[in-house]
Amino acid sequence: MLFDSHSHIYTDRNTVIVNKSDKNDFFVNSFFSLGIHPWNVNPIEDNFLLFELEVKKKNCLAIGEIGLDKLKGPRIEIQIDMFTKQIEISEKLELPVIIHCVKAWNELYLLYKKFQPKQIWIFHGFNKVGILNEVLKTDLMISIGSSIFTNIQLQESLKLIPNEKLLLETDEANVDILEIYQKVSEIKKISLQELDQIIEENFKRTFRKWQSGLSVQNY
Ligand SMILES: [Zn+2]
Repeated sequence: MLFDSHSHIYTDRNTVIVNKSDKNDFFVNSFFSLGIHPWNVNPIEDNFLLFELEVKKKNCLAIGEIGLDKLKGPRIEIQIDMFTKQIEISEKLELPVIIHCVKAWNELYLLYKKFQPKQIWIFHGFNKVGILNEVLKTDLMISIGSSIFTNIQLQESLKLIPNEKLLLETDEANVDILEIYQKVSEIKKISLQELDQIIEENFKRTFRKWQSGLSVQNY
């Protein structure tokens, strides 16, 4: 079984956490994550009581994607406010967080220092090799997606990411997660079997609700 930590596309071939934030109720029986994306932050509309009810569902494995984006969305102070509220929920409900971070590592890092979160933060779609050393100094998990096919610097950097910090994802790309597994195993010079084991362990350690979520999965 392959493990896809973050996707906007549902498949029953692998264990996949579908991003439900786009209001895809179609995915009701799969594992999902839920969060208010920084592009969509709207302080008036967001209803945190409903949000909490939804993320308490057994098959909700994470809060996300949420985060900070300096290229898109409302001004950063508003994004930080919404991010903070969701981090508080993640700590309260003991759920990991899938994070979208674009040109805002400094702000994210400050929040990380401030919260010292007990829950695992996942840097999703990681492709900013310039900040890799900084990210590696934290406990953040690093999720690699389809950029690995084309981003040569990321391919080099992947060799520096310790196995126990690694997750894989398809995100919005129309690729099979198997292709990402294959590329990563080739770059890291480990067998596909070995990588399978690493990713499965990391996934289960990170998304601790996966086992209780299985009971409501209904393919
Ligand atoms: Zn995404």
